Amino acid sequence: MTHAIPGLHHVTAISGPPQKNVDFYVGTLLQRLVKKTVNFDDPGTYHLYYGNQKAEPGSILTFFPFVDAGPGRAGPGMASAVAYAVPKGGLKAWVTALTEAAVDFDGPFERFDEQLIAVTDPDGLRIELTETARAVTQGTSTNGAPIDDGFHSVTLWLDTPDRTARLLTDVFGYASAGEASQGGEARYRFLAAGQGRGSVVDLITSNSASSGRQGAGSIHHVAFRAENDDVQRGWQETLRSQGFDVTPQIDRQYFNAIYFREPGGVLFEIATDPPGFATDEPMEKLGQELKLPAQHEHLRDQIERILPPVTVPKGGIPTQ
Ligand code: ZN
Repeated sequence: MTHAIPGLHHVTAISGPPQKNVDFYVGTLLQRLVKKTVNFDDPGTYHLYYGNQKAEPGSILTFFPFVDAGPGRAGPGMASAVAYAVPKGGLKAWVTALTEAAVDFDGPFERFDEQLIAVTDPDGLRIELTETARAVTQGTSTNGAPIDDGFHSVTLWLDTPDRTARLLTDVFGYASAGEASQGGEARYRFLAAGQGRGSVVDLITSNSASSGRQGAGSIHHVAFRAENDDVQRGWQETLRSQGFDVTPQIDRQYFNAIYFREPGGVLFEIATDPPGFATDEPMEKLGQELKLPAQHEHLRDQIERILPPVTVPKGGIPTQ
């Protein structure tokens, strides 16, 4: 193995109406809207990207907001939670800020020696805030709640974890970092080499009889990082040689993507770091204008008429 996966690149989920989504991720969770574009396969629908101030890989959560999306539900074979990293000492400020803003949360509770709280977004997607020594950057919002780091982890809910675990350790270069059981749920932690942003993957199995369903509030796929096209091509070859059905490279404007289904059923992607989100608008203006890829630019008038308007709130948890 010549390369190891350094961590998560982005996570893509489905939401209901876009305004509530923007209000929550920018207004409450203090993320930056770093790209407002359309679903390239369905250009009458938004594709919204949130990230840290620099729109770095490992901080990017994206949504396909469908105005009339039916409710989704996490279950075996799906990613069930995304966790943001909160720098050491910062969780208290989040607890205070969320309490003051009357946003419900669970916790704090402890998992593998780290403290976390969990909130659900307006469509029911579980978002965790995990205080960790692994947080890469430090930053403080006006209300004292640290922001701007990126992901801590993603959680994959599986029927059986073994084959997914082997993909992570034997192919992706992750290390097993412990297991814990609580109330009918077993959790297995894996850590990417280098332990940078978004370096944790948790696999869980659960006794609860639930079947997952794609819809608003569910995660569609999980993307891991490749440093460049050459590295991505290497992954494509390696995965194909292991019997995975991997797509050709697809141009997603801000990165190149390949996709395959991991053994537990979750759709995985490997996305390149370049060119990044400042490829079609300046870094200081990310997310302000509707950006369309060249193939859809001639439809701009039509697309702008169809898409519901969204207003981006000021970052920061509103205080009364
Ligand atoms: Zn993706």
